[in-house]
Amino acid sequence: MIIQPKIRGFICTTAHPEGCSRVVEEQINYVKSKGPIKGPKNVLVIGASTGYGLASRIVSTFGAGSKTIGVFFEKEADEKRTASPGWYNSAAFEKFAHRDGYYAKSINGDAFSQEIKKQTADLIRRDLGKVDLIVYSLASPRRTHPVTGQVYSSALKPIGKSFTGKSIDAFRGEVKDVTIEPADAEDIEHTIAVMGGEDWEMWIDYLAKENLLAEGITTVAYSYIGPRLTHAIYKDGTIGKAKEHLKATADKLNRKLEGMHGEAVVSVDKAVVTQASAAIPVVPLYISILFKIMKEKGTHEGCIEQIYRLFNEHLYSTHAPARDSDGYIRIDDLEMKDDVQQKVMEIWPMITSENLVQLTDVNGYRDEFYRLFGFNVKGINYDADVDPVVKIPSISSEQEVQVKDAN
Ligand code: NAD
Repeated sequence: MIIQPKIRGFICTTAHPEGCSRVVEEQINYVKSKGPIKGPKNVLVIGASTGYGLASRIVSTFGAGSKTIGVFFEKEADEKRTASPGWYNSAAFEKFAHRDGYYAKSINGDAFSQEIKKQTADLIRRDLGKVDLIVYSLASPRRTHPVTGQVYSSALKPIGKSFTGKSIDAFRGEVKDVTIEPADAEDIEHTIAVMGGEDWEMWIDYLAKENLLAEGITTVAYSYIGPRLTHAIYKDGTIGKAKEHLKATADKLNRKLEGMHGEAVVSVDKAVVTQASAAIPVVPLYISILFKIMKEKGTHEGCIEQIYRLFNEHLYSTHAPARDSDGYIRIDDLEMKDDVQQKVMEIWPMITSENLVQLTDVNGYRDEFYRLFGFNVKGINYDADVDPVVKIPSISSEQEVQVKDAN
């Protein structure tokens, strides 16, 4: 199959296996170039195939030498369609991890379901005994509640009043005004149900009940706060309410884990180009401006640089770990610096379709977006025929049989 990008709105419906593999390899090489770090032994990453979760898995393995189990929800290829990028990333991740002698197994399915939690618990029990780090990095538009069966859909809306602001179509290079009507009570409730902390707590409760949490367990989930410019749509909007719930869940989990000297923490990360952030109105334009400024200052980071710092300077630092007054880890510190945000505020009102390329890094945004799907990657021949069917080594029918046998 000749695989080229096919953009539909803010997603790409194709992915390139070799391109995805190369992008994963680049992240691994980054971590190796920074040198080994102290870290966990046995890690569960929920949402491990793309973005911040994939970076967490790579840093755990290639930075700290950890054994990892990754849970994600991705599509395998068939004769007509390529796999989703997270599928190719995970296949590549396992290939490189196994090549270097590391344990890495993956479970593909709905992390919100009880069935996947049980499958994961069985694999931990069988292969690892216990886990000492659980990274919760899900970003999903939907959740089927495992107890009630209700389907929740998250909404990205302001609360209280409608929001009008600038947004971009990064592919057409157009700036336009968007108006988003305010959320109703159901939108808020649904977004909290999908992106809040209930499922995180269900995972921790279940694995604790199954006696699979090691003494001193750490669990971390990811959040975003961002500047005032995006507050109406993010921090003060429906997704912000869900993130408040996530933080309240961390505080609750902290109390639950106290007896085993464990910790639950929320890390506030920088805005980066991922499939999740591309879907949020206003954010792609903000990211395009931010990237230009941070690249000029030499402080630009992607997921892998962020998570390396999270592990090395916060979670497994030899110094007392820094938290802000609300108890968050802040690896968005460089994004939120006053001089960076002042510059964003100066540029923001000046942006038009005509000066977009000059005043922002929209080209860099677009390039990174393509790279999420394995396109625009140096050294890959996109005119060559490539087999879209790639196996994730640990997800073979044989492993499924073994896991079933162990039950
Ligand atoms: P992403 O879209 O790159 O990754 C989402 C992951 O969740 C994938 O591995 C996907 O397979 C998995 N997933 C989704 N639904 C699932 C399901 N039902 N079952 C199992 N796995 C499922 O997202 P991301 O941007 O890396 O976001 C991860 C976290 O980081 C989110 O909490 C997000 O809010 C936070 N965050 C993102 C940014 C950003 O700019 N992208 C910034 C700060 C914080």
